[in-house]
Amino acid sequence: MNDLIIKQGKHINGDVIDIVINGGRVTAVGPEAAAGLPSIKEIDLHGHYYVSAGWIDAHTHCYPQSPLYYDDPDLIGAASGVTTVVDAGSTGADDIDDFYAMTRKAKTHVYALLNISRTGICCQNELADMAQINNEHLQDAIRRHKGFIIGLKARMSQSVVGENGLQPLIKAKIMQKANGLPLMVHIGNPPPHLEEMADLLTKGDIITHCFNGKPNRILDEAGNLKPAIQRALARGVMLDVGHGTESLSFSIAEQAIKFGAHPHMISSDIYQRNRVGGPVHSLATVMTKFLNLGLSPEYILNCVTINAANLLHLPHKGRLERGCDGDITIFDLKNQRIELVDAEGQIRIGTQQFVPIATVIAGVHIVVAENVTKKNMSVENTPAKNATTNRSPLNGIPL
Ligand SMILES: [Zn+2]
Repeated sequence: MNDLIIKQGKHINGDVIDIVINGGRVTAVGPEAAAGLPSIKEIDLHGHYYVSAGWIDAHTHCYPQSPLYYDDPDLIGAASGVTTVVDAGSTGADDIDDFYAMTRKAKTHVYALLNISRTGICCQNELADMAQINNEHLQDAIRRHKGFIIGLKARMSQSVVGENGLQPLIKAKIMQKANGLPLMVHIGNPPPHLEEMADLLTKGDIITHCFNGKPNRILDEAGNLKPAIQRALARGVMLDVGHGTESLSFSIAEQAIKFGAHPHMISSDIYQRNRVGGPVHSLATVMTKFLNLGLSPEYILNCVTINAANLLHLPHKGRLERGCDGDITIFDLKNQRIELVDAEGQIRIGTQQFVPIATVIAGVHIVVAENVTKKNMSVENTPAKNATTNRSPLNGIPL
């Protein structure tokens, strides 16, 4: 008996496929792959909705105790089509144990990029005191939380580093050598200047807020890609969107994409305030903005699945393949006019949207998005058909 069968989902390549999940893993995938197989639960999409590997949001803030940027992992995750959220530096070595314990209650998979400051984002300037960047505490935390801490985070803008300029980044690169984890660097207002930071980064490091419109943007005055960014990209440094409250400019993104500087990852930098009040709202909204910027649905899906999994060293995620984690996002691509707003108040009118329908995590948790009707999807619990005690809290869809 399998845990879950998803029947007749549309792959973005046009194929109609079944997905079989058992023991938390995908055990079969492809056209008619579920034919004749028994399962505890079954979702039939009748060829109406798309399926992809579960979406990964590589830059979020979901440590509820954080005083500045916080949210609930299941609101920004499972309720929003996202099966995996990565908290980007809300916690450092001092709070990571507490954060880890809290995340065990979430349905959504949660991972952490450890802030190089032991305090995490306790305040706006966590890197203004070099004494807080403590190698011993950082390496200890990584050893304690192997598999949960999947990278490092350094917020390298003037308001965060104070008078320290490049020093926190230089120290981060030294500390990274002992663990080999990817380093995500936030860019914002200088100093330090983007060019000198980019020159320090190596293959696999990630620049987040890559299309910000601040002075540390990736384009020069003439609108060309800065040479230091071109060199960094040639070395294998990666670009991550990290939309956030202040860090996505449509005009910068449009120009950069024209030069071929496509994002490698599309992430939200979501937290409660920019989810509820905008301009982020959800990872799906950020993905929709990039549809309107001219990237294809396939490209965008790769950014939130296989690219994110590869860059963050999560080999069992991001792929719809046998043996991979049973994390699936069910979604629609709706042809519908939508007004899109970036972090600078620029407006674009989109005509197509990514709309999450349901989130499947490890083949066990099934969370149906709000406002989804049963019209094009049926969810059944095979051994207990019609059981009233086993109804979803959302929309009354039996699970
Ligand atoms: Zn952030």
